[in-house]
Parts: sequence; structure tokens; C-alpha cells
Amino acid sequence: MTIEKINEKWDFVIGLEIHVQLDTNSKMFSDCNYIYDVEPNTLTCPTSLGLPGALPTVNLKAIEFACKFGKAVNGNINSSFNFARKHYFYPDLPKGYQISQFDKPIVEGGHIPIWWNEKNYDIALTRAHLEEDAGKSSHNSKNKNSLIDFNRSGAPLIEIVTEPVMTHPEQAKKFVQRVKQLVNYIGISLAEMEKGKLRCDANISLRRKNSKKFGTKTEIKNINSFKNVQKAIESEIIRQSQKLENNEIIEQATLTWNNEKNLAEIMRIKENADDYRYFPDPDLPPIDLDKKFLEKIENSFEVLPFEYEKKWTESYNLSLNDSIALASSREIAEYFEELISKNIHPNTACSWILNELFRLFNENEINFSSEKVSTEDLKRLIIDIEAEIITQSSGKEILRKIFERNISYDEILRNDDYSTKDLDADSIVKKTLSSFPEEIKRFKSGEKKLLGFFIGQVNKKTKGKLNHKIIAKSISDFLKD
Ligand code: ADP
Ligand code: MG
Repeated sequence: MTIEKINEKWDFVIGLEIHVQLDTNSKMFSDCNYIYDVEPNTLTCPTSLGLPGALPTVNLKAIEFACKFGKAVNGNINSSFNFARKHYFYPDLPKGYQISQFDKPIVEGGHIPIWWNEKNYDIALTRAHLEEDAGKSSHNSKNKNSLIDFNRSGAPLIEIVTEPVMTHPEQAKKFVQRVKQLVNYIGISLAEMEKGKLRCDANISLRRKNSKKFGTKTEIKNINSFKNVQKAIESEIIRQSQKLENNEIIEQATLTWNNEKNLAEIMRIKENADDYRYFPDPDLPPIDLDKKFLEKIENSFEVLPFEYEKKWTESYNLSLNDSIALASSREIAEYFEELISKNIHPNTACSWILNELFRLFNENEINFSSEKVSTEDLKRLIIDIEAEIITQSSGKEILRKIFERNISYDEILRNDDYSTKDLDADSIVKKTLSSFPEEIKRFKSGEKKLLGFFIGQVNKKTKGKLNHKIIAKSISDFLKD
């Protein structure tokens, strides 16, 4: 049964809980540092090891980052809040509780606009709260031992919780991608999923088409890539729909994504709600944010990806897909805006970036970086093409040279001759065509499509340095009589 087929009869209800590690210099409640993939247990301190008597302190940068997130999603930033202990037992949580937030999170409400099937959806958020990460266990099935690395223990996280408002697995994937893009843009996290710096739990339930009442939800944990967000939810939709079709009840359960089997598997059935025995952490005072601190965040200015998309489609008339591609990273977006500010037409700038530059970055399998080709060089190249000083095809060749050889536009023009200025089109055409008397005869007796052949021959001779329009005109002048 396909997802679309199931969707004809059942509505899907999806809510996500996303953990994003904040790129601050120290941990959430101590001053030691976390770096991914370094020697295990080398980045620890008494607090992150949960040693008795160790006292937590609050990371102000993490608070600032959470506030920046709150502003970006247009949520309510609580100026006073506290931290709470969330109790549970797990080997990677040495003190027996995680410091998190409970009844008053730092951010409440807000929304994140996403695109799905070329339509805009404003995904409502419930809250975003600060908490600390746990350590990392690894289980070795061969020699049957388990190891714990406490480096990650205490790393700062924001947990972003959405309302149960998504209706399709692919839409959920788009949302997670948008969250990564957004936290990248505002500079609070690189959020690489492959490094566990963005993790996503998906909650899913089904209800009969158009019914108002929610069904029982299950939760999938350990989803490790964007693609698997969609796949894991699909797998759970299929499992739930088969149960519902058989008139079985859905049990509240926690599942885990099995990457090898491509399947969300049941980890445990929940009989009743988890009891975390939350209470305010007595070692951490309630926090009151300074008015000036909040004003500074409120007045900080950062353009968000959805603001760029809106501006470019509405004011520059770019297509939605082009705008989405240009806004995909802040670096590309700023590069595009810089070209526009140098008086390059938006359509021209868009096409050079999305077609020519993207091709070069893709071929070389590297991420876009403005350092490869400066906007100044690209601007001059475009202007010279428009002034017919060089041809379009020379322009593309020059761009490749700038990209590959790390040299400037000026240097290339100095070393190689691309200028069309000194080329005498008429004499080149005359010389080239004199080798094709047969073809000239056929052309004159009506085989007009040979014009393309002639242009091709002239092009070969000039290595693409002459403009096609000029060549065509010279040829027709030459063949007139
Ligand atoms: P819990 O108490 O089990 O943690 P919450 O109410 O805190 O549940 O919600 C956790 C997540 O589950 C949120 O992202 C929320 O949107 C989502 N959720 C809640 N109810 C449902 C439902 N019936 N179907 C799908 N997702 C849901
Ligand atoms: Mg929850």
C-alpha cells in the first residue's frame, strides 16, 4: 500500500521534536567545551560528569542563541524562566536527571514557514527550550561490552517542539531541512545531522479522513538523516494503517529507526505517561533577562531565508524555485544580493549563479563559497558580455578559469585574448567560407539551414570569441550576391 493510497482514507497527523546543538564555546552548565569526534572522555569536567557536589553555572551565550531563535520564529521570549530537573535513569546520564525546562520554556509559540509542493505552510511551534545533552553510549556486539563517552554530556541544546500540524511525511522532512537552514542563517548552529548536531523525533497518528478527533500517537526516535525523517514516518504510517484496517487499536509506543532494515521498530509500549518528576533545579537561580540584553537581540538585524524568498519573488519577479535555490544558504543569498547591488539585473545574476556557478561547484563537489569567484569579477564579466566586448561562451570559459585557477578576471584578460574588439568579422567570414564552395552553392539554392553550419565553422576559427549575431550578419552580407 502506498502512502498516497493510505492518505485517501486516513489523515496523517505529525508533530516533531527537534534537538539542535548550539555552537557555543562552552557547555550548557559548565565551562568545558564540546567538539564532535575527538578522543572520548577528554572534554569533561566534574559538572558534565555529574560528580556529587559539582555546581552548574548558566551559559549566557546559549541563552542569547535561544533568544535569537525565538526572534527568528516570531515566538514569545520569556524574560524570566527557570531550569528544571527531568529525572530518568540511563547510563549516559550520570547524575540521574537532565537539566531542562518545564513549565516556562525560554520561547513559546512562533512558527516557521516552509514550502511543500510549491505551497507555503506556516508550521506552528509549541515551544523551544534549553537543556543539556547526554553522553553517548556505544554497544559492541562482538565482545559484548558497552562504552560511554561523556564528551557530549552537558552540551547545550535547544529542543524545538511543533504543534501536531504536519500532514505528510515529505512535509515533515521539508520542515526539518528548514530548521537546519534557519539555525545556520542566524548563526547559532551548523546543525550537521550526520554529526548528531540536529536530531529529530517524530510523533505520528492517523485519523479517519476529515475526522476531528486525534488518534493515538507513537513516537520514533533516532532518525539520522533528512531522507530518513520521511522514510521513518512512512514506515510508521504503513504499520498504523494496517492495524487500523484490521480494527486493532494503536498502542502508545516509542519506536526506533532501524537504518539497516529501513523500518521503525517498536522499542517499548507506554502503559502510562512517563513520570519524570520534574522540579525546579535548586542549584540554579531563576533567570531574569536584562531589558538591554533583550533589546540588543530585538534590534539585531538578520535577513531570514523566507524573507529573501518573499522579496525576490515579489520584487524581482524570480520564480519560486529560483528564489528557494538562491536562499538555500546565507552565503549564496548574500552573494546574489551583492551582485544586484552592483547593478546586475536579478534575472541575469540568478542565471549566472544557479546555472554557471552551481555547475562548477557541483562538478568539484564543494559547497558554495564566495571566495572562488568574487562578485566584482562576475559583475565585470557580465557587463563585458552585455557590451559585446566578450561573447557569452568566452564568458563561461573565463568563469571556469577564474574558478579553477584562482586568478582574477583582469589577469585572464591580460594573458589570453578573448576580446572581440580586434576581430574583423567580415574578413574572418570570407576566409572561413572560402573553404566551402559546395556548401555555399547549396545554401544559395535554398538550403538555408546551412547557416548554422557556417556559424559553427566561424566559431571554431575564432574559438567562440565572436558574437553569433555579428557572425550571422557577416555571413548573410557575404552570401548576398
Ligand atoms: P508527550 O506528552 O507524549 O511528550 P506532547 O503533547 O508533549 O506529548 O507532544 C509531543 C509531540 O507530539 C509534539 O510535537 C506534538 O505536536 C506531537 N503530538 C501530540 N499529539 C499528537 C497526535 N495525536 N499525533 C501526532 N503527533 C502528536
Ligand atoms: Mg514530549
